[in-house]
Amino acid sequence: MNIKSVALFVAALLFAGMAAAQAYPTKPITMIVPFAAGGPTDTVARQVASVMSKTLGQTVIIENVGGAGGTIGVGKAVAAPNDGYTLLLMHIGVSTAPALYRTLKHDVTKDLEPIGLVTEVPMTMIAKKDFPAKDFKEMVTYVKANKDKVSYANAGLGSASHLCGMLFMSAIETDVLTVPYKGTAPAMTDLLGGQVDFMCDQTTNTTSQIKGGKVRAYGVTSLTRVASLPDLPTMNESGLKGFSVGVWHGVWAPKGTVKPIIDKLVAALQTALKDEGVKAKFADLGTVPEPLNRQTPEALRAQVVSEIAKWGPIIKKAAIYAD
Ligand code: ASP
Repeated sequence: MNIKSVALFVAALLFAGMAAAQAYPTKPITMIVPFAAGGPTDTVARQVASVMSKTLGQTVIIENVGGAGGTIGVGKAVAAPNDGYTLLLMHIGVSTAPALYRTLKHDVTKDLEPIGLVTEVPMTMIAKKDFPAKDFKEMVTYVKANKDKVSYANAGLGSASHLCGMLFMSAIETDVLTVPYKGTAPAMTDLLGGQVDFMCDQTTNTTSQIKGGKVRAYGVTSLTRVASLPDLPTMNESGLKGFSVGVWHGVWAPKGTVKPIIDKLVAALQTALKDEGVKAKFADLGTVPEPLNRQTPEALRAQVVSEIAKWGPIIKKAAIYAD
């Protein structure tokens, strides 16, 4: 090939790329959720995906890829083709995993294209129904006195439930046995069955169980009470001063996804987050969409960087690692 035909070939490729981006999407899109189906992240993703499907005119299919605190699903999204047909919906875990895993193969600050922030979900400290403590104070006393007997369920190292449990145990200076699951949906099943004792999980998974009296609830992890659970005190007001965890969620595409496609996805995400049905469902589950100025690639990019800087030292101090 001479220079002229190389230039023509490159121009043809660029043109084909632009045409594909303009026509996008022409087939179903997969949204990877790095936790089990039926859990809190899955619930958020399904709400958003159903409206994005309508806006984009193509089905957004949820693929649950659980395991290793969400890092397996994130890795799968990083390795996916950057053609706009694979997305990732993940949470705060992308900012704790770098400090928790010595051999993490991906770097979310470099290997993914941010689309926008979705919602910041509060968590709740809950226990099996017959757990012998009626309020947060009694719960802390009981856990301290029975540390060799009680068990804490989480969704693996790097999950939000792991982070909350780690902060709680460090705050009360007591370590208990932790039992990891592929998501807090299966963890909840075991909690309801009494196989594990307590967990800290997002209101998007716990609200109906709390309201239905199926579990005991001791506190919320936000600094203000949650509108849908007004009687539940914050852990801060119950004595763990400054205790605060909010599970922010974001949507990403693989690195190199072209701007015209990212722009369509940002618009579709923003449409989903102003949808009345989504807002009502979020409100039932104790959360609200992020404000519009945070439903953007710039805001999510900045969030990841600042949260990695925030959690890294805290986790390193607790000295918990995986390989
Ligand atoms: N968000 C996870 C899930 O959907 C749980 C967690 O991060 O703790 O199961």
